[in-house]
Amino acid sequence: MWWGLPFLMGPSFLILLPALALAIYAQYKVRSTYARYSRIETEQRVTAGQVAQRILEGNGITDVTIGQIRGALADNYDPRKKVLHLSAADSTSVAAVGVAAHEAGHAIQHARNYRPLSLRTAIVPIANIGSQLAFPLFFLGLIFRYQAFITIGIFAFSAAVLFTLVTLPVEFDASRRAVASLRQSGLVSDEEVGGVKEVLFAAALTYVAAAAMAALQLLMLLSFNRRR
Ligand SMILES: [Zn+2]
Repeated sequence: MWWGLPFLMGPSFLILLPALALAIYAQYKVRSTYARYSRIETEQRVTAGQVAQRILEGNGITDVTIGQIRGALADNYDPRKKVLHLSAADSTSVAAVGVAAHEAGHAIQHARNYRPLSLRTAIVPIANIGSQLAFPLFFLGLIFRYQAFITIGIFAFSAAVLFTLVTLPVEFDASRRAVASLRQSGLVSDEEVGGVKEVLFAAALTYVAAAAMAALQLLMLLSFNRRR
């Protein structure tokens, strides 16, 4: 987002405030919850990597490899390379185990052809271009009083909004699969599953905040466009 936006957009900018507040709260929540459960080890001392491996095997997935990635919460599943990137594969903490199970959840979605995931993967390139071009186009349109640029800018941004919305069912479903698989695996206690749920809920909140922010930014562009 452009920081010059509040000055240029005037009162339209106020639309963003609730989403901004939610985003700040979600960031705080995910960091504090992850930190708390990073200090709590699982009773069985099972590592995040082992948990992911067990969940994959339990779901009959044999073609996904587990790799490393730097940075807390940088964990992800790459559907193109079929690699599960874990930031703390050797950790036995409830937080690391929960995140690993969540990423394994994405691998299960991929293996089962879960539709929202395919849709999200398909719109990634369009959404990336859209989010990069949208605001420059919008502002060029404003400066040169060229309505076509403004309209294209709004359409480009809609692709980015769509991406954040499709992300929601994908993320919630991955967490649901993670919790179910963890329960089935017998690797973690009920109490630990409770901790995992808290970590994954906080993480999901950041996606809700991102979607709300994107949707409200679109509303802001539309309302600003109309008021001109
Ligand atoms: Zn995820």
